[in-house]
Amino acid sequence: MLKANQNYLRLQGSYLFSTIAKKVAAYKEANPDRTVISLGIGDVTQPLSPAIIKSLHEAVDDMAVKETFKGYAPDLGYAFLRRAIAEQDYRSRGCDIAEDEIFVSDGAKSDSGNIQEIFADSCRIAVCDPVYPVYVDSNVMAGRTGTYDSGSEQWSNVIYMPCTADNDFVPAFPNETPDIIYICSPNNPTGTAMKKDDLQKWVDYANDHGSVIIYDAAYEAYISEEGVPHSVYECGGARSCAIEIHSFSKNAGFTGVRLGYTVVPKELKDADGVGLHGLWARRHGTKFNGAPYIQQRAGAAVYTPEGQEEVRQLVSYYMENAGTVKEALKEQGYTVYGGVNAPYIWLKTPDGMKSWDFFDMLLEKANVVGTPGSGFGPSGEGYFRLTAFGSHENTAEAVRRIKEL
Ligand SMILES: *Cc1c(COP(=O)(O)O)cnc(C)c1O
Repeated sequence: MLKANQNYLRLQGSYLFSTIAKKVAAYKEANPDRTVISLGIGDVTQPLSPAIIKSLHEAVDDMAVKETFKGYAPDLGYAFLRRAIAEQDYRSRGCDIAEDEIFVSDGAKSDSGNIQEIFADSCRIAVCDPVYPVYVDSNVMAGRTGTYDSGSEQWSNVIYMPCTADNDFVPAFPNETPDIIYICSPNNPTGTAMKKDDLQKWVDYANDHGSVIIYDAAYEAYISEEGVPHSVYECGGARSCAIEIHSFSKNAGFTGVRLGYTVVPKELKDADGVGLHGLWARRHGTKFNGAPYIQQRAGAAVYTPEGQEEVRQLVSYYMENAGTVKEALKEQGYTVYGGVNAPYIWLKTPDGMKSWDFFDMLLEKANVVGTPGSGFGPSGEGYFRLTAFGSHENTAEAVRRIKEL
């Protein structure tokens, strides 16, 4: 008897962005004369930079010539890209990561969703609340999360670690010991980043408790402050307890190109001494046939001197927006977080307004779309996310309208 995977039927919360889209569509239909500006989605808006475009063109031309044509890419990724990553993302920062510990992929979303496959069903996960939804949903799909309580909006087998202004958005150690700990820093949605000392405490905790940290570094390029680590491997002991996931999407504008990578150090072992590197290699080899040559060439261009300069400019473009939004909100008396090491502003809704009420008010009175904090988890209630990924013009206009509220 054919039966669908019942775990998928238990998924919650996919309604966030579709609910937003429906509300916005209904508003636009009722008010066709208004222009709505979205500071809601986590997608880039600026075109790819010249060094990347040049590399894409060259790679396409390679595919047209017998001598340079490429078929399947090597399992872990092309050596030219893994060498650049190892050298510039790790060794230049004093992190000891070898090229064959780097697995090139089609992006951080798939890696952060798939990585749970190399762990037993019995493993308990811990996530920050609010949370990037992929971490929980991928474990729900695997049947790892227990039963859902719609009152508390929590899964019985997931340890939720509240991250609010009360703890400076740094999770406290949970009472029960998790096997897998998801940490995203700089964080989506809160826009805040962990200091190295705080991350070191988590690395020590993971080593002491035999847990693994899955560290999502998608926003690493947005770090502007000293003392905020660019990689979990800047912390002592991380090689024996941490997996790190990177994306080219937010730093270099690859959301539509697709490229990322995951680092699994060879020291990382389960309680029986089984190496996780080998398992991820096996999974990669069986279920993934390599990121395309053309994309990997584009990725390598990011590490050239011109590429580095161009992506720095791209990041500053968005961070200028973050500054504009943050300053304007502060002037208006809002309490705001983030926007310094990440392209997200996390604001406290005024007068304890519910996140969704603030969403409606902002849409109707300012015609600006953001994301209600409660959509990312119960501890996001009373908060609201605005992104810095718009154009300067749209961002300035959105800010002007918010000031008139
Ligand atoms: C955007 C985002 C990603 C997804 O990156 P892709 O490489 O585009 O798949 C991963 N993690 C977080 C936290 C993100 O916000």
